[in-house]
Amino acid sequence: MLCPFAESSDDVIKLLLLSWLSPEYLAVPAEHNRIIPVESMHIREFQEMMKRLYFERDTKRGTKGNCSWLIDEIRELEETLEKNKKEEAEQEFADVLAWLASLANTVGIDLEKAALKKYDCVCPKCRRCPCQCSF
Ligand SMILES: [Zn+2]
Repeated sequence: MLCPFAESSDDVIKLLLLSWLSPEYLAVPAEHNRIIPVESMHIREFQEMMKRLYFERDTKRGTKGNCSWLIDEIRELEETLEKNKKEEAEQEFADVLAWLASLANTVGIDLEKAALKKYDCVCPKCRRCPCQCSF
């Protein structure tokens, strides 16, 4: 695989042309996502995808509204985990991640950068791996 959105050199050429013709779609327009299945991506790419999908609406809703949605999704995840239904839980995990990324977008935080800055392969408190903290 050449990149998360391209499986062949033809796909890469199409992507380069698309990004050259419309730089706002530096990643991939929606119709292209349906043609080439995405099997893996970095946190930053996922956050960018959320930005392309929802940024305008999320910005209008505001930080407090987006926090509310994230909290609701976390509650739904908790309820699903209590039911012990893995397929439903998978969807709720996806919703939590999506709302977390949306919230980060609206306040201008790069989730991948923030996560790696704090969790750089060791526990941020005891600086060990695995964590040796007493709690
Ligand atoms: Zn620790």
